[in-house]
Order: sequence, then C-alpha cells, then structure tokens
Amino acid sequence: MAITTFKVGDVTIHRVVEQEGPFFDPLEFFPTLTAEVLEENRGWMTEGGYLDRQSGQLVLCIQSYLVQTPHHTILIDSCVGNHKPRPTRPFWNMLSTDRFEKNLAATGVSVDQIDYVMCTHLHVDHVGWNTRLENGRWVPTFPKAKYVFADRELVYWTETEKRDASAAPWITDSVLPIVAARREEVVKSDHQLSDGVKLIPTPGHTIDHYSVQFGKPGADAVITGDMIHSPLQARYPELGMRVDYSSPQAGESRRKLFNCLCDTSTLVCTAHFPSPSSGHMQRWDDGFRFVPV
Ligand SMILES: [Zn+2]
Repeated sequence: MAITTFKVGDVTIHRVVEQEGPFFDPLEFFPTLTAEVLEENRGWMTEGGYLDRQSGQLVLCIQSYLVQTPHHTILIDSCVGNHKPRPTRPFWNMLSTDRFEKNLAATGVSVDQIDYVMCTHLHVDHVGWNTRLENGRWVPTFPKAKYVFADRELVYWTETEKRDASAAPWITDSVLPIVAARREEVVKSDHQLSDGVKLIPTPGHTIDHYSVQFGKPGADAVITGDMIHSPLQARYPELGMRVDYSSPQAGESRRKLFNCLCDTSTLVCTAHFPSPSSGHMQRWDDGFRFVPV
C-alpha cells in the first residue's frame, strides 16, 4: 500500500489520488528526449516504476494534495473531475468515477471544511474538481473555499478561452464558474497566504505557474505542481515537456528550486510522479536525483 499521508512539523499532508497508470510515450511527452538518452536511463526509470515495464510508457499519478496546517485546510490542485467533455483526451473524457471523492472522504475532511483550493496552474488535470454538476450547472465543489489563482495565469487562460472555447473547455466548466460565483482569490505567484504557507513562482510549464511551500525551515514541504513531471527532468533540468509555455524558462525554474532544496530535509511532493510521489532531492552529476520516501 503506497503512503498517502505525511507529517511535516505541524502540517499534515494527504495525497488524494484520482488515477494512476501508464499514460504517455516518453519520446512524445518530452519532444527533445532522444531514444539514446532514454535507453541510458531506462534501467532506473523502470526499476523505480516511472516507466511501465510492458509498454514503456510513462507512469503518472493524477492527484491532489490535501494539507492541514494549524490554521487552514487547503486542497492543492483538483485533478480531472467528473462528467466533463474532453474530446481530445479519451482517458479523461466524461470521466465518471468515485475514486477521488472516496479518497478525499478517507482523509476525514469533508468538502465544506476546505478553506482554500490552490491551483498551481490552470491545466485540465489541475482544475477539474473545482466544480461539479448540479441540475445542469457547474457549481463550486468546495462551497466555503476561496480558490487561489495566479493573476497572469487567470488572464492568460481567460483570454485563450474567449478566443476559442474549444481550445480550453476546462476553463469554461472548471474555472469561469468559480469566478462567476465570486469564489476566486487572485494573487501574485509569490504570495504569502499565511504564516507557514507561501507560494513560490515556478513559471515555464505555464505562464504564471506556482509551487507551494508549507512549514518552517527544517520541517517543510514543497508541493511542486507541474514544474516537474518525471524524475528524468530532475536528472536533466532542461528537458522540456510537450505543452510547456516556455521550456527554457521551466528549466530555469527547476534548477533554481532544486538548487535550494537539494540535500536538505525539505519534502518534495510532486503532482505526477507515481506513488509515493514524494521524496527528497539530491545532487546527481549536473542535475538532481529524486529519492522517494
Ligand atoms: Zn498536470
């Protein structure tokens, strides 16, 4: 059974998993990855469960993090969600599964106990449970929560959706209804939410992506969001992902953050690494090695 709960100082962190499995061909997912470099790394990637032994596909977890601080209960990212048309992504199209809701309930926290929903960025697999279908309308799933969006991220995706709604249907059904319900809290991507909860700007994968740091020095954790998708991008920080807004900028964000975190006790909680998804960073040649807990 994979670990789903971590204690870091006075903070409790739960993983709330929606899906986990082989999803993408690594050579398509990382367009500049060569077959040769993939082969060099296939051994440890397969052993670690990051590549599927049969198909060779990248194994990814789709999950949220639920964080309980002494003051707040915070959900970071909100997966894919149910009943949402995603015509270009068959494995996420019109999803209808109780796995996310069951795993959330297993933490002992109910939807109306969540104070904040923080979206590290506004991609399809990070905003889905922001809303749920009620009598044919999309309403906030977490009725008492403020939804924390980075200002430039929200502007960028609102304009994208306005130009062509079919380019970002997840904005239509999972972000704009939050704004319409006036549940959004628009912040700078370096915002300090409270004592011990701070956003870290990690742009590149999207225009104004943020990560979130919890706790105090010596007993802290960073929820990375999608500033990294695979430990291969720790080993090679410049390795860009298919839908990056700016891969060079994403590479800079990885180097900057991992230079600070590596060889420290900071727990690194990734969005998409397979279970347990969390661990520590160490230096590895010119890059970094992810060591799962
Ligand atoms: Zn993602």
